[in-house]
Amino acid sequence: PARSTVVVGTGTGARPVMIGPDTFTLIAGPCAVESLAQTLEAAEMAKAAGATMLRGGAFKPRAAPREFQGLGKVGLHILAEVREVTGLPVVTEVIDPGDVDLVSGYADMLQVGARNMQNTALLQAVGRAGKPVLLKRGIQATVDEWLMAAEYVAQRGNLDIVLCERGIRTFETATATTLDIAAVPVVQRLSHLPVIVDPSHSAGRRDLVLPLSRAAIAVGADGILVDVHPDPEAALCDGPQALAGADVRELASTLRRLIPAA
Ligand code: PEP
Repeated sequence: PARSTVVVGTGTGARPVMIGPDTFTLIAGPCAVESLAQTLEAAEMAKAAGATMLRGGAFKPRAAPREFQGLGKVGLHILAEVREVTGLPVVTEVIDPGDVDLVSGYADMLQVGARNMQNTALLQAVGRAGKPVLLKRGIQATVDEWLMAAEYVAQRGNLDIVLCERGIRTFETATATTLDIAAVPVVQRLSHLPVIVDPSHSAGRRDLVLPLSRAAIAVGADGILVDVHPDPEAALCDGPQALAGADVRELASTLRRLIPAA
């Protein structure tokens, strides 16, 4: 099918960004919004790496209830402030159908996380919200199930959907999940939607973020979603996968080298 382009960031004062076949989009930022200073610093790092969009979770769906669950509404305020300073459109996760209106009031793009890929009430709610949607693949979802989840969003009138491959559960324990790199061209043949890759959450290890980013570019992904943090050791969420310092500079030079327009 003819490939679609999704435009993110209109109407919020951000610099609009295209995600699709004619460009390669780097979305970067902290796993979780922890403070204004941390998010601003991460956004500057993201920009330095060539990112045109900011990621950051205000609502964090964590494996254990004792782990940091995100700043919630305060985090959304911070993201909007950082957008104003940097001009970067913001993608952030919504985990509760009842929060879709709230999150839509701040975000440029609504993220549905891996854990919620088959939460049909959430998919329908984001489908009605009138914002572009980043739909991550569930770690136990087949490509068909993933595409059916996208249909739930589309059925509510929203075709601005970007799919994100973020690894699936296999017998392998060396990485957090196994990046299904083949899913990128598979889905691009089955669907018109843009497909990006999350090398950070799929591997759970910062030393693999660069190699997997190169793989994503090689296989024809429309972009990548990468965690950066000013102080990964102190991160409240997923520090071991966050890039900082020299790693961010290497990501920037890799993208400049491999993507002509970047
Ligand atoms: C995230 O991107 O913040 C996240 C929680 O990822 P996933 O839903 O893929 O686990």
